[in-house]
Amino acid sequence: AAKRLEGKTILVTGASSGIGKSTTFEFARTAPKNNLKLIITARRIDTLKEVASQIDAETNGGVKVLPVQLDVSNPTEVKNFIPNLPEEWRDIHVLVNNAGLVRGLAKAPEIAEEDINIMFNTNVTGLINMTQAILPIFKARGTEGGSGDIINIGSIAGREPYAGGSIYCATKAAVRSFTDSLRKELVATRIRVMEVDPGQVETEFSVVRFYGDKEKADAVYAGVDPLTPDDIAEVVVFVATRRENVVVADTLIFPSHQA
Ligand code: NDP
Repeated sequence: AAKRLEGKTILVTGASSGIGKSTTFEFARTAPKNNLKLIITARRIDTLKEVASQIDAETNGGVKVLPVQLDVSNPTEVKNFIPNLPEEWRDIHVLVNNAGLVRGLAKAPEIAEEDINIMFNTNVTGLINMTQAILPIFKARGTEGGSGDIINIGSIAGREPYAGGSIYCATKAAVRSFTDSLRKELVATRIRVMEVDPGQVETEFSVVRFYGDKEKADAVYAGVDPLTPDDIAEVVVFVATRRENVVVADTLIFPSHQA
């Protein structure tokens, strides 16, 4: 696996916590001495800087990490993102579209407009805009219509909608549909479009869902044994390190109690 990451540049969105942060560490641990470069993005730049220095310490400087503040729901920031990168960081090989959130759980007629917009602008439009920003780099590489990996983090919610989660579920169904269309558009190129769909994972996700109410968030996982962010990170790194003609198109991963 380490050899397949040799000299690559990997971009992870939403790397300041949870699945994105674990994925960043997992890539670094998989290829600590392979000239790997990691671009990590989120809104909380201080947290990203901490992740960067931890990886620097863990790999003795073997993995280079560039923390960049980026709100994926802001189209202007996304548009300027690649042009603003230092030139030696622009040759990106893997995009992990992980940034996402759920806000509030309410019956459809009661969902606040602000929450609807934040979820769609981040989970759907943000992911699409990031993909559009990266594709010219992928398409310009090699002779077979391009190469590179797009790994979208969807959710079990995109496959099995639940009452009270209509907007979040709709955003993740949209991710799923977009991912499938894009894969078909890029057929026979070396650009792999893949999706990893987690079930219940204990992260800051629930705290965000309940607008920062930690007690309510903890209640979500009370009495159950959820996945850890590392469980998902291992799968993301697995799909990114298959032989280049192997597309692990779609992976659903959940804790055994959730089947
Ligand atoms: P966390 O809340 O722990 O992490 C979410 C990450 O996304 C943070 O790093 C956050 O960083 C970032 N983020 C949120 N909004 C934006 C934005 N506008 N621009 C850039 N970054 C943003 O949650 P998870 O790790 O659990 O979630 C990661 C992904 O996994 C999401 O797409 C989520 O939908 C999906 N998922 C999670 C499940 C779970 O049970 N936890 C289950 C299924 C799917 P910052 O606040 O610094 O911007």
